[in-house]
Amino acid sequence: MKASRLLLIIVLLALGVAAIVFATRPNSQNNTANTQEAKQEIIKPIIVTTLFPFYDITSQLVGENAEVSLLLPPGVEPHAFEPTPQDIIKIQEADVFIYSGDVMEPWVASIVANIPESVKVINASDGINLIESTDDHSHDDEHGHEDEKKENKSGSNLDPHFWLDFNNTIIATNTISKAISELNIVDNNNLDQNKNNIVTALEQLDTDYSNTLSKCTNKTILQAGHRTFEYLARKYNLEYVTTEELSPNSDTSAQDIAKLVQKVRETKAKAIFSEELVEPRIANTISSETGVPVLELNGAHNISSEQFQAKTSFVDIMRKNLENLSIGLECK
Ligand SMILES: [Zn+2]
Repeated sequence: MKASRLLLIIVLLALGVAAIVFATRPNSQNNTANTQEAKQEIIKPIIVTTLFPFYDITSQLVGENAEVSLLLPPGVEPHAFEPTPQDIIKIQEADVFIYSGDVMEPWVASIVANIPESVKVINASDGINLIESTDDHSHDDEHGHEDEKKENKSGSNLDPHFWLDFNNTIIATNTISKAISELNIVDNNNLDQNKNNIVTALEQLDTDYSNTLSKCTNKTILQAGHRTFEYLARKYNLEYVTTEELSPNSDTSAQDIAKLVQKVRETKAKAIFSEELVEPRIANTISSETGVPVLELNGAHNISSEQFQAKTSFVDIMRKNLENLSIGLECK
């Protein structure tokens, strides 16, 4: 008897909940149709960006006033990226094309040379001095290693990862904002407000990095991956050792791994950092060799599909990096 009465109560409760859910549920089909109609009516300017940081900044600057797209498919490694014929058409048909610079994207030069005048081209690294990598891998040259290895794709030793110095990201934000303001895509008051919000968030990030990273027991970032964080390391007075050069290199040598293993022991490191969007195979090897855990440092060149869906921002990625740095470098 007791059991059947309990069952009855459960059934009644379930019916009650179902009734409330149906009563409060919005008519989602109609909403979608309305939104689609609204979208078709307004033809928005099209902005094509290459790397994630500038996609994120531009999206925040223009809000709903333009259609911003990221040329690199989510998860794709940008150093080896070459645009497809469809990508080139996409750039040629855009109103604005924003790229990160000629060192990171040497393929842009030939596209820009043949681009219609109607496309406004913005180089996000305008006015920014790229640093020269101080990578000590260059000593290898004396022992007959190929020169190509230490260089990035454009053949120089300039480091293209300038967005990892937040002052540079602010300069790029101003450059993009100024160029967009000349196109009258967004009401200039809104644009200014959006720009100020981004700059404030980046300044806060710099302050937080500065405060946290000045209190670390360990001052060396050891990363299994390519040389991405030199801007950040220099800015906050940290040493930076990696297994690869300025571009990802699939054939990391046993020597490079041994060097990092030795550094883990020498510096009594508490973590080895991996990079984003690749299997942390080398990091795991060093981890099992030394017993220290692997933590990710995300260079934000590009994001994964999951992060894209979740609307992860550049600042979100940098906050997670600071958390991991704080653990790995024991910042009090
Ligand atoms: Zn890189």
